[in-house]
Amino acid sequence: MKHVGIVGGGIIGLSSAYYLQQAGYQVTIFDQTVIADGCSYGNAGMIVPSHIIPLAQPGMIAKGLRWMLDSKSPFYVKPRLNADLMKWGWLFYKHSTEKHVEASIPALRDISLLSKTLYQQMADTLDMGWHERGLLMLFKTPSAAHEMQHEADVANAAGIEAQLLNPDQVQSLEPDVRVTVAGAVYYPGDAQVVPTQVMSSLITHLKQSGVTFKEAKEVTGFTRQGSRVTAIETTAGAFPVDEVVIAGGAWSSEIVKQLQLSLPLQGGKGYSFMLKDVKQNVRVPAIMLEARATATPMGGDLRFAGTMEIAGTDMSVNMNRVQGIAESINQYYPDIPVQLPAKNQVWKGLRPCSPDGLPYLGRLNNYENVVIATGHGMMGLSLGPATGKLVAEVIADQPLSMSLTAFAPNRFD
Ligand SMILES: Cc1cc2nc3c(=O)[nH]c(=O)nc-3n(C[C@H](O)[C@H](O)[C@H](O)COP(=O)(O)OP(=O)(O)OC[C@H]3O[C@@H](n4cnc5c(N)ncnc54)[C@H](O)[C@@H]3O)c2cc1C
Repeated sequence: MKHVGIVGGGIIGLSSAYYLQQAGYQVTIFDQTVIADGCSYGNAGMIVPSHIIPLAQPGMIAKGLRWMLDSKSPFYVKPRLNADLMKWGWLFYKHSTEKHVEASIPALRDISLLSKTLYQQMADTLDMGWHERGLLMLFKTPSAAHEMQHEADVANAAGIEAQLLNPDQVQSLEPDVRVTVAGAVYYPGDAQVVPTQVMSSLITHLKQSGVTFKEAKEVTGFTRQGSRVTAIETTAGAFPVDEVVIAGGAWSSEIVKQLQLSLPLQGGKGYSFMLKDVKQNVRVPAIMLEARATATPMGGDLRFAGTMEIAGTDMSVNMNRVQGIAESINQYYPDIPVQLPAKNQVWKGLRPCSPDGLPYLGRLNNYENVVIATGHGMMGLSLGPATGKLVAEVIADQPLSMSLTAFAPNRFD
């Protein structure tokens, strides 16, 4: 039986293990932590086929520069004299074009829809908190209304249903909470999970299926013979493997450097916090557009999330930005009793952000047995199952469920 070593036990690593194990491989997952609280745990839990426009898009640079001047704003690039960041910024700028958006839409739509179907199948046997209630993109201002109308048109043209709602229509979807908006775009095809449930159900299932977990073992390098990796080197010694999957989230560019390769990738830090036991809760997961903050009901609780700080792998919590999220909520849901959480109650995570907003998925050119699966940015949870299935298909050399051309890991070489 061939042995696959997966670097990283986030949603991408676990999903890859799920499909590799089903395909008959012996699988070991290596993680530098005891897997319990990475980026795949505290996120907003939204499964978003609606997100077909990549982050690198026209107007994003100008918006980002305006937001940079506001310490509570939802977007920030920590200025650093760092060659990796400068290269990433240049590539982001180069891809913020209409042409790139048009070329990306079919690829993002196809991988998202594939992933949703696979989640539906997984949810038959795994407890994930799966619900199909759609997604509301709430807006208050004319400029956001304009932006949303355009996005809705783009989505409908691509075959993703989007409905423009007036305030009364929004309110009728939310019978238990008052919503004060100018309107919303409703994506009925979106879904949600409870991320901690997804992760713990997958881990339990994988352990029962014979997948080995090597936790608290940092991967420090790779033993190579020519163009093959023969072993994964860790702080607890070297482990022989036949195939390697690098699914190290925001740390993947550091991991890939051990193979003398460069992968443009930055951590996009975000925060979340939970309001417990909410009596009158939100029903439909929502993005508060001007604030770029999210609200997701999870059981009786309500999770708020937001901000994107391009800050490498820095994990410190900036309370100004958390305050920005907290202050925005009552502008949309005026009766929800939200308060600024204590710093130690704030969860933080690093989205692995590629500069063109598309994942990296496929074999590395220079190595015959290394697959990379990262760079999913704001959509990693959504795209986990499809990524895992595609990783397994690549390794087994089977026909692919979809083309991976747009996601080629070496596309910036
Ligand atoms: C605030 C916020 C809200 C979000 N909301 C959503 C959402 O609603 N929907 C959605 O689809 N996505 C969302 N995301 C994005 C999503 O959470 C990420 O894209 C996803 O979790 C990335 O998964 P991953 O497996 O690639 O990385 P991770 O979950 O970060 O896993 C990578 C793992 O690799 C390990 N690792 C790294 N280096 C090494 C090493 N050298 N040796 C061993 N192990 C290593 C790390 O310890 C980590 O466990 C959100 C993110 C944030 C921050």
